[in-house]
Amino acid sequence: MSEEKRNNSVIFDCFTSKAIQEKFAKLGVSNEISLILHLPLRYENETYLREINDISGGETVQIEGVVISNEVMYRPRRQLVLQVEDGSGIIFIRFLNFYPSQVKAYSVGTRVRLLGEPRTGFFGTEMVHPKCHIVQKNTPLPNFLTPVYPTTAGLSQVMIRKLIRKILTDKTKLEILSETIPLKILKNYRLNGFSKSIIFLHQPKSTAQVHLLEDRTHPAWARIKFDELLAQQLSMRLHYQQRHKCTAPSMPDNKRLTKILLHSLPFSLTNAQEEIFSEISQNLSESYPMQRLLHGDVGSGKTVVAALAALQAIENGYQVAIMAPTEILAEQHYRKFSSWFGFIFGPDRNSIAWLSGNQKKMQRQEALSTIAAGTVMLVIGTHALFQEQVKFKKLGLAIIDEQHRFGVHQRLALRMKCTKEGMVPHQLMMSATPIPRTLSMSYYADLDVSLLNEMPPGRTHVITKLFNETRRKEVVIRVKEACCAGKQAYWVCPLIEESEVLQLRTVLDTYEKLKMIFLDLKVGLLHGKMSSHEKIEVMELFEQGEIQLLVATAVIEVGVDVSNASLMVIEHSERMGLSQLHQLRGRVGRGKEASVCILLYKEPLSEIARKRLQIIFENNNGFEIARQDLLLRGPGEFFGVRQSGVPILRFADPERDENLLKEARDAAKEILRDYPELAKRHLQRWLGEKSDYLKV
Ligand code: ADP
Ligand code: MG
Repeated sequence: MSEEKRNNSVIFDCFTSKAIQEKFAKLGVSNEISLILHLPLRYENETYLREINDISGGETVQIEGVVISNEVMYRPRRQLVLQVEDGSGIIFIRFLNFYPSQVKAYSVGTRVRLLGEPRTGFFGTEMVHPKCHIVQKNTPLPNFLTPVYPTTAGLSQVMIRKLIRKILTDKTKLEILSETIPLKILKNYRLNGFSKSIIFLHQPKSTAQVHLLEDRTHPAWARIKFDELLAQQLSMRLHYQQRHKCTAPSMPDNKRLTKILLHSLPFSLTNAQEEIFSEISQNLSESYPMQRLLHGDVGSGKTVVAALAALQAIENGYQVAIMAPTEILAEQHYRKFSSWFGFIFGPDRNSIAWLSGNQKKMQRQEALSTIAAGTVMLVIGTHALFQEQVKFKKLGLAIIDEQHRFGVHQRLALRMKCTKEGMVPHQLMMSATPIPRTLSMSYYADLDVSLLNEMPPGRTHVITKLFNETRRKEVVIRVKEACCAGKQAYWVCPLIEESEVLQLRTVLDTYEKLKMIFLDLKVGLLHGKMSSHEKIEVMELFEQGEIQLLVATAVIEVGVDVSNASLMVIEHSERMGLSQLHQLRGRVGRGKEASVCILLYKEPLSEIARKRLQIIFENNNGFEIARQDLLLRGPGEFFGVRQSGVPILRFADPERDENLLKEARDAAKEILRDYPELAKRHLQRWLGEKSDYLKV
């Protein structure tokens, strides 16, 4: 058996039963390694005793004494009340829940050791429900702090402690604690040894600085966090290296078609767009697959960069697939690309293939056959593009818009599909959900990242206003004025998570009501349950200015781009998440008009809703909003980890441990280059079977 196998897949021989094994599984502990990486949340200090007459409230203390009275009382409620005396004074101990066996065990004359927080109660100094065990006169005090582990119902601290102790003291298991970081790097980054750190965290000496342990800044913690970050970096780098070994079509920029598009656009590229396109252009000319994430705040102009990349592939004779998470956005891309690429393909829309889940069978068949035959060079669609039946003749580039909306499985499926005869297409992913730098450094380390950090000129700052919904009338007047002055507006209906039916009814009701109020305006309706044909028609009318007020659900959240729309009303904004609010608000402020976003909210607001509204009100910059969102929710929530499959960090926090993250990133390079065997062992220890997931 290989070394890693021995370390990781052996079912724990110390698990005494299947039931216990299942309880540990709930904690993510499945083998000996994961058990020793199950680290304490906090510690209790049972290494010394205090005297009863010397203790006061507000701190946890340990005392020892003899029970001098033991009584079950019924008033004010049933409880076991003891009096314990230690020579310095007397304390009352109250147990509100107790077993008859305890009444007996703590009989008068018994010596007990108690850990708890004293307070002044009805009878005098008392402790309620302290940790209590029976001792002899000379039972020694422990030499170590007592660890308290994360646990689950039915798994006692004593049991966890015992099992961990067993592994740590088993001489045949020394391998588990072996060092995976070369001495040179340990020295360089002033890191403690692995085994020393692990043993220390499970069993700190009584003199340890508890506050450093509890806020996890102790050097032993630093080592563990470093290891965790290192594992992540190693795995990302490995993936990166593997990618560089694959072959992709080399598609150099011969500036034939891209130049024509640039000349035909009504604007010139911003510097940032130019720079990023030249990076992408360079990548496409290489013979290994690009995997680039193009980040840019809402409205920063990512689409045109994607269009240029697409043309570079097309001018080299390769097909391009563009995928969007919603039908509305895919359709909008379809129209935009049709008009931009009209000069190449002619005005005939059929030269760009369209694929969506709602398509008629005939049209779909036709699209599939033109894609397979290679007669269409550009395919635009939704998730339907992932499906198995879709076969490309010569796919050179896959573009995924709003990539954070796609799940990990879909991304994986696409990558598989793309791999054909040893050739992997290039991949460009775009996202308007800005990921804070520290997170992108940790979670996206396998990708090349471009940041579009400049807005096209002439953008107006969106003014955000908060209105209690009791002031709805004022909002209605504003909308009316704006539309009568030739502007266009969105009215976004609330998110109703519990029920799609209810959501639909709400948007229909709102539409009917607003139509009655704005008799002389053209009001349109857009929601997810409409047929694609209807959606497309409504969007076209809105784009042409035929519809002045568009009542919509959050389907318009991503990508929709109508520059004349300069007013947005969002109902029940307190129900929406920050990134959704920011994305929605990004639908306005795209033209010359000063734009306004009105957030209607309903009281009472929860603490978190109030905080979110404050953040969105005070900030316009997507990165700042994302950063604050991250602080508010933590990385797990931020990514919707369960769906995305991004392995979450248990101990390290990329934001707080930014320095460690940078060091781990540098160390990962060196370790992979000079100590590949250690890298492998390190990954196995930290990621085990999960390391496959990282390849996505
Ligand atoms: P996003 O990055 O959110 O996808 P889009 O690509 O939809 O943004 O671009 C938003 C709008 O800005 C579009 O109407 C687009 O045509 C326009 N735009 C893009 N680049 C420029 C530029 N360099 N100058 C002026 N307008 C631009
Ligand atoms: Mg976009």
